[in-house]
Amino acid sequence: MEERGSPDGDPARNLEQGPEGSETPIQVVLRVRPMSTVELRRGEQSALHCSGTRTLQVSPDVAFRFGAVLDGARTQEDVFRACGVKRLGELALRGFSCTVFTFGQTGSGKTYTLTGPPPQGEGVPVPPSLAGIMQRTFTWLLDRVQHLDSPVTLRASYLEIYNEQVWDLLSLGSPRPLPVRWTKARGFYVEQLRVVEFGSLEALMELLQMGLSRRRSSSHTLNQASSRSHALLTLHISRPTSQQVPPVDLGEPPVGGKLCFVDLAGSEKVAATGSQGQLMLEANSINRSLLALGHCISLLLDPQRKQNHIPFRDSKLTKLLADSLGGRGVTLMVACVSPSAQCLPETLSTLRYASRAQRITTRPQGPKSPGVKPPQQVENELLRLQEENRHLRFQLDQMHTTAPGAHGARMAWAQRNLYGMLQEFMLENERLR
Ligand code: ADP
Ligand code: MG
Repeated sequence: MEERGSPDGDPARNLEQGPEGSETPIQVVLRVRPMSTVELRRGEQSALHCSGTRTLQVSPDVAFRFGAVLDGARTQEDVFRACGVKRLGELALRGFSCTVFTFGQTGSGKTYTLTGPPPQGEGVPVPPSLAGIMQRTFTWLLDRVQHLDSPVTLRASYLEIYNEQVWDLLSLGSPRPLPVRWTKARGFYVEQLRVVEFGSLEALMELLQMGLSRRRSSSHTLNQASSRSHALLTLHISRPTSQQVPPVDLGEPPVGGKLCFVDLAGSEKVAATGSQGQLMLEANSINRSLLALGHCISLLLDPQRKQNHIPFRDSKLTKLLADSLGGRGVTLMVACVSPSAQCLPETLSTLRYASRAQRITTRPQGPKSPGVKPPQQVENELLRLQEENRHLRFQLDQMHTTAPGAHGARMAWAQRNLYGMLQEFMLENERLR
């Protein structure tokens, strides 16, 4: 039997033990959506069978194994629980950068999984039981921060990548594409993106609605309201450190965790969706960035090439996912598939992709500020600085007693510099204390 997927153990367990610095696999959960009314009317049978909680059977001799497999009968709440998003939220509160992304063919249920179904009409609310992973995480997070000892500042940004251009879904002015930049400290980021501070669940839900209503979607044969863009909503979480120590290097980025939700536009065969004209251009852009994503995933998996260049720069999507896939983030992928036999070739491609993705590892890294360094590390640093101070004092004493007049100017310069350095060390010692 062909069995693919994570060979052993629950990847979630690694995170519970603390992901800091250790190789952590990308977690992959598979969701099979229920048959649609159209598919049922055609008299279709499901081509997929869930055998157990972690295995998907495609045929008697082809099966795929994931962190969790959820069939069409599973509710939105089941999915939220199986994905372990609360744990990702906890990690984000501890300063880690976490990403949840959905992946799969157009019409496979990605948007439904993340944000629930669209409202059935103007002013018709979506029942809470159908809320997606995002709303459930928001509700959990806003409740969670109320029970923390220290105050938390929450901010959100929401963007879409449409035809290889980044658009701010929360912008106040007239929309225009924004540049993606890179710095050593921040990695890839979107310049001038609006990041909005919020203090309540209602305010965050409003931001989500604003973005969802602006996001580009259109109707085609496989999906009535198909997302035509990749959308990234990021929650930025900052907490003052418990020891209130100012960072030694003021050039460091602010301490803070991130929780990012990525709703990828679906991969599609242009012929199957009947895309023409503008739709075809969109489909090609979508497919190109998904291809770039697939290429990066393949290279990340190749042990020989992992150290080498990964072409994250090939698309905006891969740039913005670089940290989630190859870097220091903690990542969860929710692969979505349709049970329809008509979609089987696309479904197999999603399953292969997802199955390979769970062999990718990242090295999650928490905040770098000295305020959250373990006490042992601070102590070691203090000892080192003390030793350095002693050494510098000794050198200064030597100079006072031995400096001959002929070298006066040079020595005065050296002394000034050494005094400067000494002062810095003393200040640093003071801060560390
Ligand atoms: P995608 O984002 O992958 O293109 P959608 O999330 O838009 O797909 O889902 C396509 C259609 O299927 C939508 O009408 C959606 O409401 C429906 N759907 C998807 N998943 C489910 C589910 N688990 N239960 C009920 N309906 C679903
Ligand atoms: Mg969608």
